[in-house]
Amino acid sequence: MIEIDALVVGGGPAGICAASTLAEKGLEVWLVDENDQLGGQLVKQTHKFFGSKEHYAGVRGIDIPQKVDLCKVKVLSNTSVLGCYKDGVYTLIIEEKTYIKVKPKGAVIATGAQEKFLPFEGNDLPGVYGAGAVQTLMNKEGILPGKKVLMIGAGNIGLIVSYQLLQAGVEVVAVIEGADRIGGYWVHSAKVARASVPILTNHTILKAVGKSEVEGAVIAKLNSNWEVEPNSEQTFEVDTICLSVGLAPINDLLWQRGCQMQYVKELGGYVPSRNKFLKTSVDNIYVAGDVSGIEEASSAMVEGKVAGLALAMDIKGENFEMEIEQAFRSLKWLREGETALNLRKGLEKIGVIEC
Ligand SMILES: Cc1cc2nc3c(=O)[nH]c(=O)nc-3n(C[C@H](O)[C@H](O)[C@H](O)COP(=O)(O)OP(=O)(O)OC[C@H]3O[C@@H](n4cnc5c(N)ncnc54)[C@H](O)[C@@H]3O)c2cc1C
Repeated sequence: MIEIDALVVGGGPAGICAASTLAEKGLEVWLVDENDQLGGQLVKQTHKFFGSKEHYAGVRGIDIPQKVDLCKVKVLSNTSVLGCYKDGVYTLIIEEKTYIKVKPKGAVIATGAQEKFLPFEGNDLPGVYGAGAVQTLMNKEGILPGKKVLMIGAGNIGLIVSYQLLQAGVEVVAVIEGADRIGGYWVHSAKVARASVPILTNHTILKAVGKSEVEGAVIAKLNSNWEVEPNSEQTFEVDTICLSVGLAPINDLLWQRGCQMQYVKELGGYVPSRNKFLKTSVDNIYVAGDVSGIEEASSAMVEGKVAGLALAMDIKGENFEMEIEQAFRSLKWLREGETALNLRKGLEKIGVIEC
């Protein structure tokens, strides 16, 4: 049994910021991630971030992890946290070989999110991908998923990945969206529209066509009750169908540990109940980033800082409230505007902010 001050599970933007903050406050921190490279979703985000300088505006997502100071953090890559038990013990497996037990004084769970899928005929054919998988293939491995793509979902991820496909020379035949409006930022939809890619709202996919791989896709129009309008089917000849229909928090460890969970549709599904310092119902377990509600990398980083500071206060008994207040102001700024309305509703439901 190894005893440490703090354990951070997940090396995405939330986890690296939490770990860096805890180390800066003089605590012995382990940062654990199951991948070979730190950054979580950032390792595939080749585009430049926007917003403010404080939130790495102008820096490519893939370059952000190197800008965070982790020199005092013990980083365990290729390591998965398998379990989290009532006595405060966490079980880890390193490189799929070495099994160890760790007992930290406190932990930040920053395990991120996984992609949601859609039920439709033929969705198990080779050629049907999640948008995250397409980004990994293209931006990390340098492999194109196909030549002609239909994108399902016009949120930020669907729009960004569509644009990245176009930049890589892939034809995007259309972006379809079930809702009556585009969910992503105007700046992303404008780039796709300028490339003459139609963005069809009120549309859904009915089936993937093909015997052993995707050869086409049938879509149809939806009415205001989300029912398929008769005779509205259209067929596209494509070799790839890319799904970008939302993310759901990876919350297994929190369920296992008995943290109180709440279903909040606007935050992506089951999320942990927590106070504004991101402390869960279980003492000394904090959360940050997408596991606490689907948002963005910028807010995940600020949440990581809040959770790190709050846990450091618990462990050291010192007061870092002024720094926390500053981070709160940053979060408020990031959560302003019409596009974050849904998110604010979700956070209000969980009792974190006033809408
Ligand atoms: C395809 C895609 C594109 C996106 N594009 C943008 C964008 O352009 N701009 C933007 O701001 N946001 C974007 N986002 C959202 C943004 O990437 C996320 O909000 C952000 O990465 C969340 O950070 P996180 O640290 O909470 O989780 P993640 O980045 O998901 O990191 C979590 C990490 O934890 C690891 N992990 C999980 N469970 C365990 C375990 N048990 N043991 C060890 N490790 C574990 C995961 O492997 C992962 O590395 C995108 C998301 C996706 C999926």
